[in-house]
Amino acid sequence: MTDLPFPRPRPVGSPAGAVGLPEGTSGLPDQFGRVARDLRVSVTDRCNLRCTYCMPAEGLPWLPKAEMLTDEELVRLVGIFVGLGVEQVRLTGGEPLLRRSLAEVVRAIAALTPRPRIAMTTNGVGLDRLAARLADAGLDRVNVSLDTVDPEEFAALTRRDRLRDVEAGLEAAAAAGLAPVKVNAVAMRGFNDDSVADLLQWCLDRGYELRFIEQMPLDAQHGWDAGTMVTADEVRLRLEKRFTLTELPAEDRGSAPAERFLVDGGPQTVGIIASVSKPFCQACDRVRLTADGQVRNCLFSRAETDLRTPLRDGASDAELAGLVQGEVWRKARGHGIGEPGFVQPDRPMSSIGG
Ligand code: SAM
Ligand code: SF4
Repeated sequence: MTDLPFPRPRPVGSPAGAVGLPEGTSGLPDQFGRVARDLRVSVTDRCNLRCTYCMPAEGLPWLPKAEMLTDEELVRLVGIFVGLGVEQVRLTGGEPLLRRSLAEVVRAIAALTPRPRIAMTTNGVGLDRLAARLADAGLDRVNVSLDTVDPEEFAALTRRDRLRDVEAGLEAAAAAGLAPVKVNAVAMRGFNDDSVADLLQWCLDRGYELRFIEQMPLDAQHGWDAGTMVTADEVRLRLEKRFTLTELPAEDRGSAPAERFLVDGGPQTVGIIASVSKPFCQACDRVRLTADGQVRNCLFSRAETDLRTPLRDGASDAELAGLVQGEVWRKARGHGIGEPGFVQPDRPMSSIGG
């Protein structure tokens, strides 16, 4: 048994009313007509920061090594997803750079046929040393999470004094050709909500593409509060005090969740993701694999399907593919935040993979 602070979700979820996967299904459709093509893989649940909207100050009890997928297991499962039509693999965590074998994992994923696009979401600490190696191994793109460039705000938000490391990581990513370098930010009331325009100016000056995302109820402490969440509309209003934002047409958006705006006539843009206040679930093409080998059809799912046990028990690729298809098929229509029956998932963001 694990000593995780949250109860283990039931292994295979079948929400009431879900229809079974039709015989002969190919690829990764769900019962509402969406098709999963974007796989988010959490390569570790560990982290070296303690962002207030994600983890408590003391951290979390990390997964024991034996419960984590080995490199070989992880790459085999990613290959099965690719065989089912996944076109993009995003490595995340926890902090993905903390997996020592990350470059080898990237190289092995890049050798899959057909080769998926490979992206990574990272807090950027240590990226200065690793960016070139990861790019050489086959990493195509990187999103670096950075909520503020004010050192005091950064230290308060992440509970660590590592702003310089993140800046160096961003510079190294750009130098390694991981372009366009994207920056992800969460606006938090009382921390960085009044410095969002400074962050945009800083990113514009360096050619980084900034996207704000609304804080979601996925923190381990269950401290999220709809009343204090900084909404996408509020971020936009705050940015518009300094910049002219021109909305790009929604058809340019596809399954991408960000509303994008030209800044001061362009060509640079800023994205604002209203994941809570204006959900984009109807266009979602994501599926997730956790570091301990559970496949999840949604960040907010209350169930998941265990791949690690059957994999270690000798299941064939076809059997594992069938389990993945079943999990994706059961994906709910929407995340339901704000609806009366909404219950925050047991796993926090850092353990699911954001
Ligand atoms: N450690 C890496 C990082 O921070 O980029 C990867 C994992 S982190 C969980 C992935 C993304 O999720 C980050 O951009 C982070 O800001 C975001 N995130 C974490 N908790 C969140 C929350 N409660 N609401 C919205 N975004 C959150
Ligand atoms: Fe770590 Fe990323 Fe969570 Fe921050 S958001 S605590 S960097 S996993």
